[in-house]
Amino acid sequence: MKPTLVGARGQTPDEFNPDPYVQDGINRAGELFDNNRCKTFISRVLQRAAADIDARWWATKERYTSDGNGFYPAVDFASALGSYANAFNNGWVTASGNPGAHDGSVTYGTTRPTGHYPVSWNDEFFSLSRNERGLNTLHEALHQFPGFVDATLANAESFVDGQAYRDYTRDQNPVGAASQNLNELIRDYCAPR
Ligand SMILES: [Zn+2]
Repeated sequence: MKPTLVGARGQTPDEFNPDPYVQDGINRAGELFDNNRCKTFISRVLQRAAADIDARWWATKERYTSDGNGFYPAVDFASALGSYANAFNNGWVTASGNPGAHDGSVTYGTTRPTGHYPVSWNDEFFSLSRNERGLNTLHEALHQFPGFVDATLANAESFVDGQAYRDYTRDQNPVGAASQNLNELIRDYCAPR
C-alpha cells in the first residue's frame, strides 16, 4: 500500500506522521550497510572524506585529526547513522510538506549543514520502496559529519571507486550533480543485488 503523501487526500501536514517512515529508513539503512561490499565501500569513503578535509584544514572550519596512522577515529557509519537517529529522536528529522521534484529530478531529502544538522524529507520520500528509503537515509546520514557535503562525499566515492576527481564548482548545478553522483555509487555498492 502506498502511504498518503503530505497534503494529499485532504490530510494536512499536522495529520501526517512521518515518524514510522523515518524509523523504517533507519532500520533499512542499517540492514543495507550490513553487507561486506557496502560496509567496506562506505567505511573507506568516510575515511577519505575526513582525510580530504584534514588536508585542506586551512580552508575550512571543520577539523578531523588522524591517529597518526592516517585513520580518523569515530568517522564511521555507525556514528553517522547514530547521529541521524539522534537527530530523529530530538525532532530534527521532519517532513517538509513539499514535493522535491524539479528540473527532471527529485530531491528526496536535504540536510542543513549547520547547528543540529536537521534533515528535511520531501513528499516523494514517503512513497519510496524500503530499499530506496534505506539508500536515501544512508545518503543523508553521511551528511551528519561536519564538512561532508555532496561534492566532498562524491569525490571521496570516486577516489575509492578508482575514478578521477571532479570539480563540481564547474557544474551548472554543483550540489545537484554531486548529489546525483553520490547516489549512483551508493546504489552501486549498497543496493541489494
Ligand atoms: Zn546529499
